[in-house]
Amino acid sequence: MPDVFNWQIGRNMAYEYEANRPQRQVAWVFDTNKCIACQTCTISCKQTWTWGQGQEYMLWNNVETKPYGFFPTGWDVRLLQMLGPGGWKDGIYQGKTVFESATSDERVKGWQPESEHWAYPNVGEDEPAGATDRGTYVPSIPHDVWFFYLARICNHCTYPACLAACPRQAIYKRPEDGIVLVDQARCRGYQECVTACPYKKVMFNNVSGTSEKCIGCYPKIEQGEQTQCVTSCIGRIRFAGFISAPGKVDEKNPIDYLVKVRKVALPLYPQSGTEPNVYYIPPIHAPLPFLRQMFGDGVDAAIETYKKTKDDPSLLGLQMLMGATPKIIHQFKVEKETAYGYDADGKELVNVPLREPTFIRKYFDDANNVYLHNIT
Ligand code: SF4
Ligand code: SF4
Repeated sequence: MPDVFNWQIGRNMAYEYEANRPQRQVAWVFDTNKCIACQTCTISCKQTWTWGQGQEYMLWNNVETKPYGFFPTGWDVRLLQMLGPGGWKDGIYQGKTVFESATSDERVKGWQPESEHWAYPNVGEDEPAGATDRGTYVPSIPHDVWFFYLARICNHCTYPACLAACPRQAIYKRPEDGIVLVDQARCRGYQECVTACPYKKVMFNNVSGTSEKCIGCYPKIEQGEQTQCVTSCIGRIRFAGFISAPGKVDEKNPIDYLVKVRKVALPLYPQSGTEPNVYYIPPIHAPLPFLRQMFGDGVDAAIETYKKTKDDPSLLGLQMLMGATPKIIHQFKVEKETAYGYDADGKELVNVPLREPTFIRKYFDDANNVYLHNIT
């Protein structure tokens, strides 16, 4: 197998094909601290893309409660069991990826869910880990009792396991934006992709007999629009944009700034080896060992940086720009307590104050001898 460089695990690894990075790579940042599991993203995606026959069970976007929520059942626990103990040393992953774990008769180490595994998308919802006395206030961070919401879509990986596993070469990665698609005309429904995807984001359509997956809302991306799950997000936890290639950084690009400059947004299970392109700001209240396993060893520093957002104009500015425009923000700046977002041509898309202005109304109207606020 060819040897390719995976910056997220800090080393080279074996992959089915030679490295072939796209001209531009679409990427997302999700802030787990702000997600309220309203599932608006899930439903807006479903209403847009998976309302057809054979797609009834499909949720290209889903939001699960960690640690006990999964869709499909146990997807990440099984992934971790398959990979075995790994660990990190100086930013380098010491274990094996799904490609390196494969036996001689398979291209990718994986497992295939059965119908029942797709049947409980909200299993474990709001179910906390840990225990405390009834009614106890939990002031410390990380909390003794905790859960958090993990919103998930296809990661449009740089080294897609689905693509590597397909014997028909029916899955391709678009050179213009890195979006990973299944060619419905070439697919013969072998489901090798379903078995291979470590994130279980390819789903089989029993009616069409083909595999289907999140298409990264490519008609919107082509028009400079952010994806449906981003623009519908009630919690304004999401950004869609483009990430620069390894070794390159554009400090004015919101995705680069969060992922590469400040390193507050991290890939999900980077040890899979697929170089996923959805980046997560980890929850500040969950235990660090759990988070290190999920987001790699950059978690501790990411949380420390994130906790100072309130006094950090650039990070605060980006928080204010999340969900502030349906257009892709290619560049941003923060100046005089205002955050600005610009399109690819440098045209201003939006500006947002870092702090909402506050007006304190007089509580007593001297002229009319009356209170102005409700005191009853
Ligand atoms: S998340 Fe899964 S389906 Fe999406 S590109 Fe990666 S391997 Fe393929
Ligand atoms: S719409 Fe936003 S806040 Fe609501 S569940 Fe989806 S990601 Fe979370």
